[in-house]
Amino acid sequence: MAIIDLRSDTVTQPTPGMREAMLAAELGDDVYGEDPTVNRLERYLAAELGFARALFVPTGTMSNLLGLMAHCERGDEYIVGQQAHTYKYEGGGAAVLGSIQPQPIEGEADGSLDLAKVEATIKQDDFHFARTRLLALENTMQGKVLSLSYLAAARELTRRRGLALHLDGARLYNAAVKLGVPAQEITQYFDSVSVCLSKGLGAPIGSVLCGSDELIGRARRWRKMVGGGMRQAGIVAAAGLYALEHQVARLAEDHSNADRLAAGLRSLGYSVEPVQTNMVYAQVGEQAGALKAFCADRGVKLTAAPRLRMVTHLDVRAEDIGRILETFAAFRR
Ligand SMILES: *Cc1c(COP(=O)(O)O)cnc(C)c1O
Repeated sequence: MAIIDLRSDTVTQPTPGMREAMLAAELGDDVYGEDPTVNRLERYLAAELGFARALFVPTGTMSNLLGLMAHCERGDEYIVGQQAHTYKYEGGGAAVLGSIQPQPIEGEADGSLDLAKVEATIKQDDFHFARTRLLALENTMQGKVLSLSYLAAARELTRRRGLALHLDGARLYNAAVKLGVPAQEITQYFDSVSVCLSKGLGAPIGSVLCGSDELIGRARRWRKMVGGGMRQAGIVAAAGLYALEHQVARLAEDHSNADRLAAGLRSLGYSVEPVQTNMVYAQVGEQAGALKAFCADRGVKLTAAPRLRMVTHLDVRAEDIGRILETFAAFRR
């Protein structure tokens, strides 16, 4: 029985074409700046997203951390959503390793941060306070896409108040595909962007931080310090390049599969949040544990959250949606 894993879009296996690209990759020592494949990946993303430079790192957590540390000094702070990955899911790294204070604020239902709340949270220049240096946004945020007009307003606010603007774009390409725009339409508003290659894009490892020459120079120093200087990293960068060249447009299939999954679950009587990209959130309440066990026995892997997140990706095929819905229907009976 083939397993359908809906826990995350990080579970994808490299495709045959991607494995071939990895085998064929030209390699060198990237700490010396000599890995031609890493250099190609960094140039590719910097150009595509409209930045001077880019930096390949092992994880999105490191990419965000280096971004925060490159923008902020000891005693600075960043404003961030209460549910944002850069606040809630990165082990407190900015505070622990960067001596940077997070200033979380409650997010809005559409995945944005209310800009009036953001502005009210910026601290005055007073030695009692940490220096507010940066606003960090996330897009997509729990599968929701921030509008371009919102991003323009966030840019205007941060310019006016002298803050930098960072994007945790772990799923930037899901947002771009959903909006039907080149990714640069989104990234043009930001001073730095972190992109995960290992989520829906399907690479096994890797994230990329993009920014100015100076910013990426600082991030490169921090990368070495936190242990992220890799050697023949082109073997994995090749997978990332392959993903960017061949596996972006197909994200639309993940979105339509998520849509069909949501519609099917609604017709089974579940309350399901509106779907925009590749994430489906269904209320399963106290049945979560039993549902997880029932589905696991039938080859469908879920988490056990009452607000159950199911994520579509390149190893969930269109025909799998029917099997998932049949499994849920059998559980309901
Ligand atoms: C997965 C993720 C990250 C971190 O990526 P890792 O490679 O798992 O460290 C950052 N931000 C968001 C929104 C993510 O989903």
